[in-house]
Amino acid sequence: MVEYFVKNLKMHMYPVPSRCTVRYTKEKRYKFPPKGYEKCDKCFRLYK
Ligand SMILES: [Zn+2]
Repeated sequence: MVEYFVKNLKMHMYPVPSRCTVRYTKEKRYKFPPKGYEKCDKCFRLYK
């Protein structure tokens, strides 16, 4: 199941998709997207 974490005030997905360059370094993870943070463009890019 996908989780979320915040790094540098941006919300990323965990596990981090390969298209995102951020590294997960044991930040707190959330089951649901935490409110009040900007979404990482790369992690949350929508595909159609
Ligand atoms: Zn990201």
